[in-house]
Amino acid sequence: MAIATVNPATGETLKTYDALDAEAIERRLAAAETAFRSHRTTSFAERARLMHRAAGLLDEDQRDIARLMTTEMGKPVKQARAEAAKCAKAMRWYADHAEELLADEEPADSDVKDSGASRVIVRYRPLGPVLAVMPWNFPLWQVVRFAAPALMAGNVGLLKHASNVPGTALYLEDLFRRAGFPEGCFQTLLIGSGAVGQVLRDARIRAATLTGSEPAGRAVASVAGDEIKKTVLELGGSDPFVVMPSADLDRAARVAVTARVQNNGQSCIAAKRFIVHTDVFDAFAERFTAGMTALTVGDPMDEETEIGPLSSEEGRAGLEELVDEAVESGATVLCGGERPDRPGWYYPPTVLADVTPEMRIHREEAFGPVATLYRAAGPDEAVEIANDSPFGLSSNVWTRDETEVDRFVRDLETGGVYVNGMTASHPAFPFGGVKRSGYGRELSGHGIREFCNITTVWHG
Ligand code: NAP
Repeated sequence: MAIATVNPATGETLKTYDALDAEAIERRLAAAETAFRSHRTTSFAERARLMHRAAGLLDEDQRDIARLMTTEMGKPVKQARAEAAKCAKAMRWYADHAEELLADEEPADSDVKDSGASRVIVRYRPLGPVLAVMPWNFPLWQVVRFAAPALMAGNVGLLKHASNVPGTALYLEDLFRRAGFPEGCFQTLLIGSGAVGQVLRDARIRAATLTGSEPAGRAVASVAGDEIKKTVLELGGSDPFVVMPSADLDRAARVAVTARVQNNGQSCIAAKRFIVHTDVFDAFAERFTAGMTALTVGDPMDEETEIGPLSSEEGRAGLEELVDEAVESGATVLCGGERPDRPGWYYPPTVLADVTPEMRIHREEAFGPVATLYRAAGPDEAVEIANDSPFGLSSNVWTRDETEVDRFVRDLETGGVYVNGMTASHPAFPFGGVKRSGYGRELSGHGIREFCNITTVWHG
C-alpha cells in the first residue's frame, strides 16, 4: 500500500510520500535509544509540564488537524474536532495522574517480614523504546492513547501509522517536538507494513502495541513472540447491543444509531449486532431503521454531515461483499444495501434482519454503517447470540431489570459491558478486549503499567 493522502470523498490522490530507507530507519532507532537514556531519568513533574504543553498546542491546532484527518480518512469534520479535544483531555489526564498511578507499592508488612526483608518496594520503571503500529480510523486518538501514558511513564515511542494517514502521523511527531519533548522521544516512521517485522526485531525496540485488524495483530505478535517482546493488541470487534423489554426503547434506538454509525461506522467499539427481545423486536426495528434512514450522508467537511465516505475503496468493497453475501443467503434489507452513484467511497446506512450463523457477516466485522438485527427469546438466548462471535471487545445492554444486568455482566465475553448506554473510551477506565479482539489494556492505570518493568526492590 502506497504511503499517500487520498481524499475518500473524491478518490483524488493529494500527496504521496517516500518510505524511509534502511539508513533513515537506523537513524531513528538510534535517536530513540539515545532519547530514552535521558527521558527515563526525568521527573514526573517535567514530563507533565511537556505533556500539558502538547495538550495546549493540540487545542490551538484543533480546527486544522481536524480538517487534515477528514481529508485523509473521511470522518465528519465535527467528529474530527471532538477527537482532537478528547486527545488533549487524555494528555492532561495522564500528565496529572501518571505519578500517582506509578507510585511505589509496598507489600504487606507480614509478607515483607516473611521474606526476611527489612523493606520491600515494587517500582514501575519504563521499558524503553516502544513500537506503535496504529490504524487510520481514529488517526489521532489511537496514537495519543498510547503516547500519553508511554511518554509519562518514561518510555519513548516510534509510530508506524497506517499508510493512508501520513499527514496526521507527521503532525503528531511535530506536536510532541513543539511541546518540548527532546528529539527522539516520539518519532514517526513512514514505512510500509512489510518493514514492521524488521524494526520490531531490532534489539533497541523493547515492546510493541498494535491497534488494527486480526491479520496485522497476528503478524506483529508472531514476530514479537519470536523475539520475546511484550505486546498489547487492540484488534477488531463486533460488539453486541442487547435490548430487553424493560428498556427505554426510544432512547435505546436513538443511541443504537449513534453507536453503529459513529466515525462512518468504522469503529472497533461500534455496536454492530443488535440482539433484541422478541417482545420489542418490531418496535425497536422500526425506530432504529427510521433513525438510520434519516441520517445525513454527504461531504465530510460539511458541518451538517453525519456520515461521510468510507476510508478506502477496498474498505467499501469488503463491506459490500459482506452485505451482498448475506442478502443472497436470505437476509432482509430494512434500509440501504446499495452503493450510491456518486464519486467517493460512500456506502449508505444499512440494516439487515434475518441474519443467520452461516452468513459471513455473522462472524466477521462489518467496518462501515451496516447493522445486523437478531431476535432473542430471553436473556439466555441473547447471551448465546452475543457470545457467538470470535470477537470480545465490548458490549451494550439495555434493561431496567437489575437481575438481568447482573446476568449480562457475569456472562458476556467482552472487555467492557456498558449498561443503558453506548461504549465510549475514557482515559480513566481500562479499554481492551478478549478472544480475537486482542489482549492487554489501554488507558487508566492498567494501560500505563503495560509498558513498565515491574521491579521488586528487596532490602535485607
Ligand atoms: P489494519 O489493516 O490491520 O492496519 C492497522 C495497522 O497495521 C496499519 O498501520 C497497517 O499498516 C499495519 N499493518 C497491516 N498489516 C500488517 C502486517 N502484516 N504487519 C505489520 N503491520 C501491519 O487495520 P485498519 O484497516 O487500519 O483498521 C481497522 C481495524 O482496526 C478494524 O479491525 C478495527 O476494529 C481495528 N481497530 C481496533 C481498535 C481497538 O481498540 N480494539 C481500535 C480501532 C480499530 P498499513 O496501513 O501500511 O497497511
